[in-house]
Parts: sequence; C-alpha cells; structure tokens
Amino acid sequence: MNRLAEELARFCDTHRLDEKIFVAPSRAIGHQVAEAVVRAGHPWVNLRIETVHTLALRVIEADLVREGLKILSRAQGLALVEQACFKALQREGYFGKVRDQVGFHQTVKATIEDMRGAAVSPGSLRVELLDHDQKARELRVLADAYDRALAENHLVDEAEIFRRALKKVRGRERVAPREGLYLLPDCFDLSPSEREFLQRLAGHRLHVLAVDDPSDWKPAVSAVRISRALGEENEIRGVFRRLLSDGIEVDRVEILYTEAATYLPLIYELSAQYEMPCTYGEGVPVVFSRPGQAVLGYLDWLVGDYDARAMRRLIGAEVVDLRKATGEKEPSGAMRAARVLRDAGIGWGRERYISRLDALIRFYRDRQHGKGEDRKTLDHEFPEKQMIAARAVRAFVQELLAVTPEDSDGKIALHELAHGAAVFVEKFARVASELDGTAAMALQGLLEEFSSLSDTRIGFPQAIKRLRGAVRSTHVEAKTPEPGHLHISDYRMGGYSGREFTFILGLDESRYPGVGLQDPILLDHERRRINRVITPRHLPLLGERPQENQKALKACLARLRGSVTMSYSCRNLLEDREQFPAPFLLEIYRAIHGFPEANYRTLLSATERPAGFIPFQATYLDESEFWLERLKEKGRQSGAASTTVRTIYPWLDRGGHAEEERASARFTIFDGWVRDSDGELDPRLNQRPISSTQIEALARCPFAYLLRYILGIEPPDDYARDPTVWLDALEFGRLLHEIFRTLMVEITARHEKPDFSRHWDRLQAIAEECIGRWRHRVPPPNTAAFATQRNHILAACRTFLKDEEIHCQGVMPRYFEVPFGVSGADSMAPIASQDPVSIDLGKGEGFMLRGRIDRIDQRGEDEYEVWDYKSGSPRSVIEEKTLNRGRQIQHALYARAVEILLARLQLKGRVTRSGYFFPGPKGEGHRVVKEQDAGALERVLSALFHLLREGIFPYAPDSDFCRFCDWQCVCEGPQKANERIRRKLESRTQKNTALEPFRRLVAFDD
Ligand code: SF4
Repeated sequence: MNRLAEELARFCDTHRLDEKIFVAPSRAIGHQVAEAVVRAGHPWVNLRIETVHTLALRVIEADLVREGLKILSRAQGLALVEQACFKALQREGYFGKVRDQVGFHQTVKATIEDMRGAAVSPGSLRVELLDHDQKARELRVLADAYDRALAENHLVDEAEIFRRALKKVRGRERVAPREGLYLLPDCFDLSPSEREFLQRLAGHRLHVLAVDDPSDWKPAVSAVRISRALGEENEIRGVFRRLLSDGIEVDRVEILYTEAATYLPLIYELSAQYEMPCTYGEGVPVVFSRPGQAVLGYLDWLVGDYDARAMRRLIGAEVVDLRKATGEKEPSGAMRAARVLRDAGIGWGRERYISRLDALIRFYRDRQHGKGEDRKTLDHEFPEKQMIAARAVRAFVQELLAVTPEDSDGKIALHELAHGAAVFVEKFARVASELDGTAAMALQGLLEEFSSLSDTRIGFPQAIKRLRGAVRSTHVEAKTPEPGHLHISDYRMGGYSGREFTFILGLDESRYPGVGLQDPILLDHERRRINRVITPRHLPLLGERPQENQKALKACLARLRGSVTMSYSCRNLLEDREQFPAPFLLEIYRAIHGFPEANYRTLLSATERPAGFIPFQATYLDESEFWLERLKEKGRQSGAASTTVRTIYPWLDRGGHAEEERASARFTIFDGWVRDSDGELDPRLNQRPISSTQIEALARCPFAYLLRYILGIEPPDDYARDPTVWLDALEFGRLLHEIFRTLMVEITARHEKPDFSRHWDRLQAIAEECIGRWRHRVPPPNTAAFATQRNHILAACRTFLKDEEIHCQGVMPRYFEVPFGVSGADSMAPIASQDPVSIDLGKGEGFMLRGRIDRIDQRGEDEYEVWDYKSGSPRSVIEEKTLNRGRQIQHALYARAVEILLARLQLKGRVTRSGYFFPGPKGEGHRVVKEQDAGALERVLSALFHLLREGIFPYAPDSDFCRFCDWQCVCEGPQKANERIRRKLESRTQKNTALEPFRRLVAFDD
C-alpha cells in the first residue's frame, strides 16, 4: 500500500464505526484508494467518498430545488458562450473577426471558467490590468452576458455552486451534513477558498492524511525500467508482450498514458484485437461505439449536402439499423443496401433521394416483369432481395428525412439540429453491445441538453461543428479497476489502484511535459496582474503547465509500488523521423542508477532495443507477429521461410504464383486466358444474342470485356459531387434521344419533313416538357447548373432541327428508336422486333445480334440510311477507319440488321449509308458516314469471336481506350498492362500460340 492508503487504513481501523468522509480529488480516485485498503486486508464500514464539488452541492442542493435551478452541462456552457459572443461582440471590435468561430468559443469558455473559478467578477477586469482597453471591455461584456445567460436559463455552473456553498458555510447557517469525520489527503491541491470551505464545513472534524513525498519516490518502487518503441502502437505491443512473456495477470497491471488523444484509441483497438478486457479511468470516447459513429456519420451526411457517399458509408459500416425503419425482422444486408444507394444515382441533395429511389424501384419492378432498358443490372441472381433492400432503404431515408430539420438560408437553431440528431440515435443507431447501449443513452442525454437553448440561429456548418465537438468530447463507461481487467488511465489520475505493475507510456520529449501554451485571450502576464489585485485567489497560469505536469508525474511515481516501466516512442512513423526521450527520463535514469553525469547517450545505450512490429523475443501476440519474425530471420528470398508460409497459406501462394506468371513472357491464365471455356463463350456457337456495344468493348480490350461481361463485375458508380453539372453524359444523351424521337414521330405521322421555321416552336415545347420531367426525376444541384444544361439542350435541339432540314431534303425519315432482340422494349416502329437478328458470317457461320437503332431514313424506293445520334464529341469516332479493328463496328452491324428487319416485313431494301450524327454542343451537327465493307466486317468479327471461342482475353496492347477505363485498378494501369501484353505478343522464347487470333486482330488496319 502507498502512504495514503496506509493512512486511510489506519484511520478506518481506529474509527471503525464512525462516519468517515474521504474527500478525494475525484470519486473514482477515492474509490480506488478505498478498494486498495480493503484488498490489503483492512475492511472498513461507514466510509463515504466525496469531492469538494459534491460536498458543496450537498450544502446547497435544497436551495437549488427551491429556486428551480439546474446544473449547467458542458455542452450547454459552450452554447451559452457562443450565444454571448453573438450578442455581445461587434464585427468591427477587438474579437470581431473571430466571434463566429467554434475554436474561439471554446477558448472563451475556458477563460470565463477560470475567471469564475477564481471569483474574478466582470467588474474587476479593469482596463489597466489588460494589455488592450478594448479587449478588457469586450471580455467584461462577454463575462456579463454569460452571467445573464445563466440566470435567464435558470442554470448554475460549478463556480456558482461553490460560491453559494461557501457563502452558506460562512454564514454559519445550519448546513448538512455536519456530522462525520472529514479525511483530506495532504496531496490535494486546494485553492484557499476550497480549503476555507472544508474547514468551515468540517470544523474540528477535519483530519489530514499524509501522502508519499513526491521528491522521495525512489525507495518505494522495487524496479524501474525504461524502454522505447518504434511508434506509439509498438509501445502498447511492448507492454502486452511483456505481460505474456512474464506471465503477469492483467488485473495486477495499470497502464498510464500522457496523452489520451493518441494512446486511448490505440489501447482500445489493440486490447479489443487481442481480447484483453480493460477498464478505463477516463472512460472511452463515445465515438468508439456504433451510436457514436452513427451520429458522426449522420452529421457528415448533413454537412456534405446529403452526399450519398456519406450515407453509403453510414449504412455500409453497419452502425444504423434499417429494420428500425422498416419494421422487418430480417436485416436486408448493409452492403446490399449501400449498393442500392449507389445504383439509385442520388449523388447529393435532400430532394433527390426519394425520387431517385422511386425510379430505381420502378426499374427493378420492370426488370422483374421482363421489361426495362438494357442498362446495367447488378445482383442478377437476387432481384427479389435487391427489391427488398431498395424498399428498406427508401423507408429508412423517408423516416430519416422526416426527423431531420432543414436549414433556412444556411442557418439553423442548434437545439433543432440536436433534437434531430437525438431522434436519429434513438430510432436508427444500431446497438449491439453494452458499450453501444450506454453510448446511445449518453448521446441522447447530451443532445437533449441543447433543447433548453434559445432559438438563436447560427450557420449550418457551424451548428454541425458544434454538435460534432460535443459528441467527440463525450466519454462513457468510466470505471474503477475491476478483477480480470487491465486498468487504463491518465497518469494524473493514475497510480491509486495499488497494482503491482505500472506502465507509463508517452514519455517522449514532444509529448511530455508538454508546452505551456498560454490562453490567447487572457495572457499569463495579464493573469498575474489580476491575481495581484484579487489575492488570495488566483487565476491559473497556463505557461506553468509543464512544471505542473512534472510535479504530477513525480507525485504519481511516489504513490506507486512494485515495478514501474516508463516508455517512449523513439520514432514518429507517420513523419518517419526520430523522437527523443523526455528530459525527465534522463533525470529518472540518473536517480535510479546514482549516476548524475549520465547523458542521453548513456541512457540510450542502457535501454534495450526498441519494440517494433516484429518481436525480438519469442513472445508473439498473434500469428502475424510470428510470421513476420520468421520472415525477418530467414530473409524474404529464403526458400525455407517463403515455402513454409506459402504452404500454410495456399491463397498467398496462389497470389505469388499469379504475380510471377504475369511478369513472365508466357501468356497464362493469369493474363486473361480462360482455358476451359470449350467455346461456350462464342456467340456463333452458343447463339446467345450479343450487342454491338459488347462487340466494340471486346475489340477495345478483351480483358476488360472478361471482367464486365463474363465475370459480371461492376465498378462502383460513384457520383462525385459536381455543382456545375445537372445530368451526367448518359442522362444527357437519353434526354436528347427522347426529345428527337418525340418530334420526329409527330411530324412524320403528318407526312412532314423537318422544317426549322415550322417546327422550332414545337421542338422547344417538347424539349421543355422533357426537361421538366427529367428535372423531377433528377433534381439539379443548383439553378445555375440546371440553366447551363438546359441551354445546351436547347442549342442541341436547334442544331438538330437545322441540320435535319437540310439532311431530309434527300431522304424521308422513316423509323425512330428501333429495338430488336431487347425484351420488353416498347416501340411504335413496325420493323421493331422482340427477336434478335441473325447475322451471316459466311461458311455456314453466324450469330444473333440485338440492339436499338436510333434512326432509319429512306432514300428512293429501296435504299435506306441508318444513323446513330451521339451527344458527345466527334473525336470519339475515327473517320478514316472503317471498323477500327472492331472498335467502331455498330454502323456496319446495324446496316445489316436493318436489311434483315425490312425483309421480315416483306420489304425490299438495301442500306447504302450508315453513320453517326453529332447534334450536341461538342458536335455542332457534324455527320460521319462510314463505308460499307462486308468482307472487312466478317474478317474482324471472325477474329473477335475466335478470341471468345478460345477464351483469350488479353489486355489492350495500346492505351487508346484506357483513359476512362474502370478496370485500371485490376490490370494495374495501362502502362503496365499494355507493356506486358506487347511483350507476350512479341516473345520469341515463348511462342504463345494461344495469342495467334489476337495477333491477327491487332494486325488489321481497317
Ligand atoms: S486500362 Fe486498358 S488495358 Fe487495362 S483493362 Fe482497361 S482498357 Fe484494358
């Protein structure tokens, strides 16, 4: 036992039945000391743990109830300061420029708390005490405004509670409790007024308990070790390995840290990973729990203008429970639900969610009934599950939007936003552990604390930042040490548990003893001036924090018993630079070794090798550590270690083998060779309809074709927010097609040809109607983006009509949007067909083609033209190449298809021209006409289908179509992929005969 525990034990022994009130720095510390006494064999009764604050509260709690006053919470305190800043500070004043900033509010709050704690009234802030008159005046106004805000909201803070209690005990009124013996540890750093309060409250019943002298800590501990590690994580690993190697039970150990922000999350994660049960003296941040992460994700979603990616992360992280919205018993699967959000193409914006989800549900329904467009269809095998997930997501989003308040003009009242967040936690946050349950309750309590605040509206991002800050600083499950658990604590609160093994982490010079950053509002020299006039109370001097931290660590060491290990991180892994031990460690070294001349070199040479990710002793926390150590020892190239690892982990072995094969000159199954396809992928053999889009994709890059059309892999459809764009390229093209078709169907039904002067008004009206419909379906991000694209659409319509007027002088527009072989596609064109067309390739070979032809015109009695509308740039089509190795083959295939479709209707007809029409802003009415070359078409198709027959799917040998490829992350990028396949095509050592059809295709020049 340490001295304090011994003193308490002695007192309890001699005053066994008397009521004893142990006044501790905190209740948690008091309980730890009292428990240590019991564990040491000194049972006690009638011992109560109190702090100065809880005693003060007891003295006046009846008064608070009578006056209807409530205790101010931390979140409310910050909100009151924020409101005081808005009301009291002018934009042109001393603090004017920063008056809206959350960081400023936090600093002002700390300053005001210091002032109130030291009983510095606003009136005592005389201008001559501060460097600037204006600053003094504004600080006074702020402190006054805060006082008033407390009174108006019927709140009392800690300083007010203590002021009232002190006044009451000074007035010698009867205060409760007067009975009992008050035990005050000698180390307790009380202010003069706190000491006076206790003396007046306890009178002659106050007993001071001696504590260990901080300057005399050395004899108390049996062993002191200094260790180091490569990074903070390895400091913790070092501790865990030590427990394992020395067989130390976890409940004999206390781990102390110097900086919670770094060490607490690391200890939490590693202890969870290695299943080490822990108690945390400061509790754990609420953001470690699912409700904490959920509410942060929710706030991220709001501040990012309802960005669908934030919502996907929220759902994908499984921190919200969709069942709470849908009432379903079975979860629909977080990943499936996240995919629904992606497929809906929401992008961002509150108003886009429901309309886009409805459109997706319609699409799923149509597909279930065999209808719908030929667009990507994820999850082919589970359409029903997809529909269930879509409905669940819609219900969830609808409820979520209902509880989420909207800002007006970018402003919102904090209490409205907090209430929305509290309802979100209650309704949707997933609770799957005890910590989650506690966190959910704590968060709801925290957020509802804002409900008493006024209606002052603040900037939306600022309100989000305030709530995020409040959530982030909330801790739950603060506990005293428990059997079977490691105890984790800050060193200022640590060392009271009486455990035998203590580890103190974070003693590098950048972290300890810390820097004495001054309060930027009330500087230390100004605080000194104030302290001189308000004696005996005093404002704390923040520049003295390093000295106070040193004092605290020495006091901590003094109360420790048993073995102490002090460690520091000697390397900053993020910045890859060296870190040095804190000077205090050298002081410790000199003291324990009685070697006052020792320097840092001596210290380092006496400290064992730094702990790293690879253990240097045979103590492994998990398999990874074991294998890392083996590999390091044997060397990466050593056959023994590598063979062993690859034998035990066959998937790792296969990965290594695949890498070697790809890097070789051989064409292998790892380069896109499906050796056992048995020809079943060849449309000439399987007779499954194929589209020209697929054939062109195969010609551009067989490997990408394999991924997309054979393996069915879809790239994630991320709708990156672009405030300048309303419709993406695909949607823009669809809308234009819709407008053109509507006009052409109308006028040709009246046997008219396009005429600008006659049809422009009608075309505009059709365009506006379509735009209106699309605007409802895809809400634009802002009016500017909408106006820009609307202008582009109208410009494209103008180009279209003007060009068509000239074009149609020699032809008669006949059929529009003609689907064939597309199930469920509606069309008014008589030549449209549910059946695909059979394309003859000669020599008894052929395949089934499906597609959708934009436009068929008639020239003369039996001559036809086929056109494809393109809303993009003409640069996408190389004019001088007929087929471009099959990469531009649609015009030739559709020409064949039209002749077959006409023949089905007993119509004679030959396609003499086919090509592409570019009416969009980048095309300006350009037309590209392609030659018809039946021989070239058959040669290219045969070569392409030969690849399918043989299962050959190599990377593209050039990067012509790699720029916008979705599969770059799979093929490792065009540079590597193009170079690899060129090398394999040219390899003389390996003949790679399987690549012959591909060599033939690459050799085509038409
Ligand atoms: S980046 Fe190029 S080589 Fe790689 S998959 Fe895409 S198209 Fe093929």
